[in-house]
Amino acid sequence: MKNARKTIFALILSAIIITSSGCEISPSAPTIGSDAELSQSSSSISEESSSLPETDFSEPEAEPEPILTPTVLLSSKEVQRGSYLTVAVQNIDLYGCSFTDFLGYEREFRGKDGIWYCFIPIKTAAEAGEYTLSFTFGDFSYSETVTVTERDFPTQYLTVSPSTLEETLEDAAVRAAFDEFFQKYRYKNTGAALWNGEFVLPLGDYKYKETTAYGTFRTFSNGATEWHNATDMAAPGGTPVYATNSGRIIFAEYLGLTGNTIIIDHGYGIMSWHYHLRRLDVSTGDMVEKGELIGEVGTTGLSTGNHLHFGITVGGIFVDPMAMMGTEPDFDFWMVKEE
Ligand SMILES: [Zn+2]
Repeated sequence: MKNARKTIFALILSAIIITSSGCEISPSAPTIGSDAELSQSSSSISEESSSLPETDFSEPEAEPEPILTPTVLLSSKEVQRGSYLTVAVQNIDLYGCSFTDFLGYEREFRGKDGIWYCFIPIKTAAEAGEYTLSFTFGDFSYSETVTVTERDFPTQYLTVSPSTLEETLEDAAVRAAFDEFFQKYRYKNTGAALWNGEFVLPLGDYKYKETTAYGTFRTFSNGATEWHNATDMAAPGGTPVYATNSGRIIFAEYLGLTGNTIIIDHGYGIMSWHYHLRRLDVSTGDMVEKGELIGEVGTTGLSTGNHLHFGITVGGIFVDPMAMMGTEPDFDFWMVKEE
């Protein structure tokens, strides 16, 4: 059916008039309806005015410019620790516009089909409670209360041999190398959706054992602590690892802490991270299809046994990768879907 999708503005809607520029902001061309449709409606307006009865002495009105007010919609006003919400803005051009979110992270809008999108991820360590999501670009501003909801994460005590700890967590150079690596890649935001449909498990049908869940607060035997922001999937060494979705390999190398490591860029700031691999079957720069072999499970780096450490970042923050399985980022959340 042609009218399969109808726009609704009933979700969370804020209409603000724009008058001046911030980051190159100008009242954008209407994003709904093609140019052809617009010129058609303009001509039908002229026809109407020319057929007005003679008794109408009102001054001919200038053809109104089709000015649409910017609207902001949120996928939800509630978001759980370890999840993310989506902001969509329409009727304004937000190219190059960024703002600081309520957790202190710089966020940038990316365009798709005339709508501007931004993901707001919530890190595991975030405090539950009410926050204000707000941004101002020129005279266009938006503010909304967002509730971060609680989630119970498990705790874990992990015994690691002193020699392994010495070579990894306790080695300042190894840690610095990891920090440099992480900062370099985490905020990459390719402004295109490279994924293809829903995310799938990286071990395919293999019945792995989840040895450490996402969000586990871990204490190592030397007293060091960390949020384990990924899912550990135990499987025999050599078990094939497949691309959780299509994308570009932006890193496929060995690192002291994470061993053989692969990052796939899926676009719009979404990336999957794979650590401790025994073998790398891809190289930096490769494009991979969802389900394509990328490597093998191993136990390289800071690891106590064969497993895949599998994480997904959204906007540079690790979110629950298992919650992403069988889903894809929904850019059309603000539309009513009909049969
Ligand atoms: Zn892990």
